[in-house]
This record gives sequence, structure tokens and C-alpha cells, in this order.
Amino acid sequence: MASSVLVELGNTRLVYDFGRGIAHRLVGLGLRQDDIEHIVLSHFHPDHLSDLIPYLHAAAWSQIDPRSKDLHIYGPVGLEVQLMRLLSLFGPSTLSREHFEVHLHEIHTDQLVIDDRVLGFVDLPPADNHGLTFAAGGTTVVLTGDSSFHEQEVACLQGVDLAVIDAGHLDDDEILELAVHSRAALIVCSHLYRELDEAELNAMASARDYEGRLIVGQDLMVFDLGSQGRPVQRRPAVR
Ligand SMILES: [Zn+2]
Repeated sequence: MASSVLVELGNTRLVYDFGRGIAHRLVGLGLRQDDIEHIVLSHFHPDHLSDLIPYLHAAAWSQIDPRSKDLHIYGPVGLEVQLMRLLSLFGPSTLSREHFEVHLHEIHTDQLVIDDRVLGFVDLPPADNHGLTFAAGGTTVVLTGDSSFHEQEVACLQGVDLAVIDAGHLDDDEILELAVHSRAALIVCSHLYRELDEAELNAMASARDYEGRLIVGQDLMVFDLGSQGRPVQRRPAVR
């Protein structure tokens, strides 16, 4: 599954991480190039940014859906050097043209601002990997890129209403530890490299007095953030 999350907050739409498959999924959702103006990268591993190449290529050269709006890409310090290295493989005209610009924003603090909205950009181990935190209508949300189990992630998830986590680098015990200690209400296990047994995970978690719920993520799952901390799973479908 793509290690990416599409976030819609009012009129603001952003994609957190841009791993393999997300460009195709966005088209499948009927989202045109100009519908996505903001991309946030947690870190610079290929599984979190590889689809930038086909996405920017399509933005520059597609006759069906050419981009006309600028694209803003946010990421940790080093973003500019890393992306310029990547894009230089193809030459400047391959991935950008006159009808739009790509703006790179290196985030030096623990916050970033998009359309006047302040979002948290939390440094989580391993180094230079950043989780995204925000609130919407009273619902608190955390998204993580890559992570191993560590106290910083427990703290980051503490009591949130919805967390979409990298569960691919965790074993079952670590997922349970994270749930039990953070008490996050709803945890979606994403970025998976293996099968997870959702029923078994929840049974083991509730045996340890975890009162929330763990969900095994699938592509195109949708959660309405609702109000006052009650995110609702709207669609579990994989297309
Ligand atoms: Zn990863």
C-alpha cells in the first residue's frame, strides 16, 4: 500500500508523503493536478517520495490534465538539496514547465503553516523523520512516516482521536505497546510489509485494558474527522 495520506481540511487539501502508488490513487479519486497544491514529506526515503517523479512528469507533459497551479512541497531541512539531486537526473524541462512552479519549503521548526492553518511537524526517531499533527473540529490527528517503537512516538500519539501509523517497522508487541501506552482512540496501521490480524490485535489490546480500536489499513480507506473526537470510518474499499 502507498505510504501516503490525503488530508482534506475545509478548502485545504494536502498529501502527506508521496510513495509508490499515490499518483495513480489520486487519479482514481478523480483529483486533478490542480486539486493538489500541497505535499508534505516526512523524510527522504524512496518509499515516501518516489511517486513525485511520475506526478511531476504528468504535471509538466500531460495533455489531459496539465497543471496550471503552483505546487508547494514541504519537508525537513535538506529538502532542497535532496529533491534537486533527484530531479537533476531528468533535466529541468522534464519535470517542470512554464505553466506552474514547484516551491520547496524546508521546515526548520516543529510547525508548518498551510493556508493559514498551523500543523505540527514533529521530529521522531529515526533521525529527520517527521510526523504530522493537526486538529479538525475538535478531533486530534497524528500521522507518522517511518518509525520504530520509541517513547517519542508514544508521547506524540498520547490520547489523540485518530493516528495513522507506520506499522511496517513494528512487530505486534510494539503495536500493542504503542496502543496501550498512548491510549490513542483509533489507530490505523499503515505502511505495512506484512499481514496483520486485526481481530487478534484488538483482542490482545483489550486484554491489556486498551479501550480504543486498532484498524489494519487498506488503500483508499476514508475517515471523516467528525466533531469532538469521533472520527468515523466512511469507506473501507480497495479499488
Ligand atoms: Zn518507509
